[in-house]
Amino acid sequence: MVESSTVIGHQMALHRLSAAISKDQNSHAYLITGPDSVGKNCVANYIASALNCENTSQIPCGQCSQCNRISRGVHSDCETISVDVEGNLHGDGNKRTVITIDQVRKIIRESYLKPYEGKYRVYIIQQSERMSEEASNALLKTLEEPPEQVVIILISSVPEQILPTLVSRAQLISLKKVNWHELQKGLIQKFQLDNNVAEELSKTCDGKPGIAVKILNDEEYKKWRSDALDEVEFLAEASSYSRFIYGGSLSKRYLKDRDASIAILTLWQEWWRDVLISSYGIDDSIINQSRIKKISYYANRYGSPNCARNVRILTDTIEKLKKNFNPSLTFEQLMLSMPTLT
Ligand SMILES: [Zn+2]
Repeated sequence: MVESSTVIGHQMALHRLSAAISKDQNSHAYLITGPDSVGKNCVANYIASALNCENTSQIPCGQCSQCNRISRGVHSDCETISVDVEGNLHGDGNKRTVITIDQVRKIIRESYLKPYEGKYRVYIIQQSERMSEEASNALLKTLEEPPEQVVIILISSVPEQILPTLVSRAQLISLKKVNWHELQKGLIQKFQLDNNVAEELSKTCDGKPGIAVKILNDEEYKKWRSDALDEVEFLAEASSYSRFIYGGSLSKRYLKDRDASIAILTLWQEWWRDVLISSYGIDDSIINQSRIKKISYYANRYGSPNCARNVRILTDTIEKLKKNFNPSLTFEQLMLSMPTLT
């Protein structure tokens, strides 16, 4: 099992946070934004550890019992709130799709109690744009007069959907994708990876450390990704007739699992972007390094204009599917409009 206690990338943001917290200048509320898998939860845990760390010179130390318990997710003063934590069905037989007023009321009730074991109670609210209006308003009242020793960390990849008055009460930490050099360095430090393995992984995961960690931990994900790349290589070689037939199965797959299908199309789009980059001779920026031989083969055979066209067509297809265009027509169009080799 790979450990995931330290943050990869975002060093400037972490440095500023540590400096402020060590001078007791922490905020009572933070809003951490950024793309999925970029490290928002890791930064939230970093803040929770820095607030509670027993070390006086360097916080968070990552060694003391407070840091240790937070990284293991067993600290009694640090709680993560999310939609449907256990994926449970509720009384009405449905899974919750929002963070409810009851979840927020529990935070408010507890926040007036002293921390049990640490210096601060820390509440991390994941996907905080999913808070119901009632829940948001209740939380707002708490943030207007925050109890001492309570810090609330909102996490969201779509902060524009959070109640603006709530956003204005929080200190914004906006995380960007991590450049691959920094990612490679972080992966080597954290997982003791070999240089080359870390390089390929860092180029594969599009600036998102969470994806690298997932690939390292998750055999199923590795297989899923590898199958999707086999598929796009197959399609690059296929005749328009085979593609047309194939389009039908893609549409069926889409109807079964919309999100997974769009994720596969995004991976194809990324692969074609690699082929396009390779057609310009800039192999260094290629994401799918493990497929580089085929990528440069297709770059030569297709040429830059056709590669660019494929990237564009896939972008359009993803857009159309997200806007609920008819999937069978959309996949048919995709298969017929991509240039072929023959
Ligand atoms: Zn510590």
